[in-house]
Amino acid sequence: MSEVRSTAQWQELDAKHHLHPFTDFKDLAEKGSRIIVKAEGVYIYDSEGNQILDGMAGLWCCNLGYDRKEIVDAVQQQLTELPFYNNFFQCSHPPSIELSRLITEIAPEHMNNVFYTNSGSEANDTVIRMIHRFWDLQEQPQRKTIIARKNGYHGSTIAAGSLGGMNGMHKQYATLPGIEHIDQPYWFGEGGDMDPAEFGVQVARQLEAKIDELGADKVAAFIAEPIQGAGGVIVPPETYWPEISRICKEKGILLVCDEVICGFGRTGEWFGSSYYGAEPDLMPFAKGVTNGYQPLGGVLVSDRVADVLKSKGGEFTHGFTYSGHPAACAAAIATIKSLREGKHIERVREETGPYLQKRWAELAEHPLVGETRGVGFLAALELVKNKETRERFDDDCTAGAICRDACTESGLVMRAVGDMMVVAPPLTMTKEQIDELVEKAKKALDITLSKLT
Ligand code: PMP
Repeated sequence: MSEVRSTAQWQELDAKHHLHPFTDFKDLAEKGSRIIVKAEGVYIYDSEGNQILDGMAGLWCCNLGYDRKEIVDAVQQQLTELPFYNNFFQCSHPPSIELSRLITEIAPEHMNNVFYTNSGSEANDTVIRMIHRFWDLQEQPQRKTIIARKNGYHGSTIAAGSLGGMNGMHKQYATLPGIEHIDQPYWFGEGGDMDPAEFGVQVARQLEAKIDELGADKVAAFIAEPIQGAGGVIVPPETYWPEISRICKEKGILLVCDEVICGFGRTGEWFGSSYYGAEPDLMPFAKGVTNGYQPLGGVLVSDRVADVLKSKGGEFTHGFTYSGHPAACAAAIATIKSLREGKHIERVREETGPYLQKRWAELAEHPLVGETRGVGFLAALELVKNKETRERFDDDCTAGAICRDACTESGLVMRAVGDMMVVAPPLTMTKEQIDELVEKAKKALDITLSKLT
């Protein structure tokens, strides 16, 4: 247990000693952090006693919400029985074996192997290592280039950050060579007057053009999130994924679907790629796999890739001390069983997902909102100055920052991505709680409007 301290004391110590992820340290020290001390169901509580509805499931990860005794018990039991052992040197242990069985059971039929990491970033580093190894073993070592997307997010290690298409990140370090970025399927921002379906095909065909430009024999893979999360919940037009799948198949390159956000139920299917009918060769995952209760990531590997990795022999020189940590695997087993037994994903698909989308769409009537969009338990809206022309307020995205603060003031966690507001609530949210989310979002939009005009 932590010490009992006042909010001011926590903030002072935090500013003095703690460097936060993706944070302007100077700015945060001046403003002071919000100290979250407790969570229950779909609510979090700060050190001032405020109850806040968590519209982001932590960081897109607590899909079952916050009071999951079954996960706590599973972790506790595992820590008592076998707190740690590694999976190196011909060793294995029941939780990592059992989780592999379970995870491949819920995965698409052609994916029957899994490699463990601690995070989504490490999962994507592993993806690069596996892709290179696969083509080397296929005696095509020249196939090294990976095509990814602008404004995609695949993590924050140098390798995963290089795969991602976030300019702000690329500016701060030397990115890896051998990664090319094509446009994202962001119709509202980049589709202009084009019909969404036509736009979807056109941006997908950039992949074909890029492969032809580089030479198909040089291209190893294409990586994308089924729905971009951190980039602003960019829901692609329905025409996008079928075209991407066609191109990957015809050109023979590997398809990687990053399921770190979309996986484990967010779209109303176990995986976002299944929602779009895509058949990936590799699927990095993390976040929702343990309901956020333990750090765990991994890569689901298709038979096409696994058969090569397994049959050709020779060591795959990659892995982490905590690849398949027993307690993290125990948390994941309990999470998957709970998702299954509680029929949470089915409920999102059939009942609460459509309800959230219906209520969320009402926000489009607000004078500040240029578009609402979403799938399952993922949704976004665009803040604009002019609904007709889609004109923004300014280049610094102050509208998004104002709205985010207004949400917190209204007792709701909603994330700002530039001038887009996004939500990814726990899948356990009831219809009443969805009503509460939408009402609070409306209130925040009104506050934002009053501050901007
Ligand atoms: N891929 C995607 C699609 C993500 O959204 C994230 C994290 N938001 C990552 C990878 C990286 O995961 P982690 O933060 O666990 O390293």
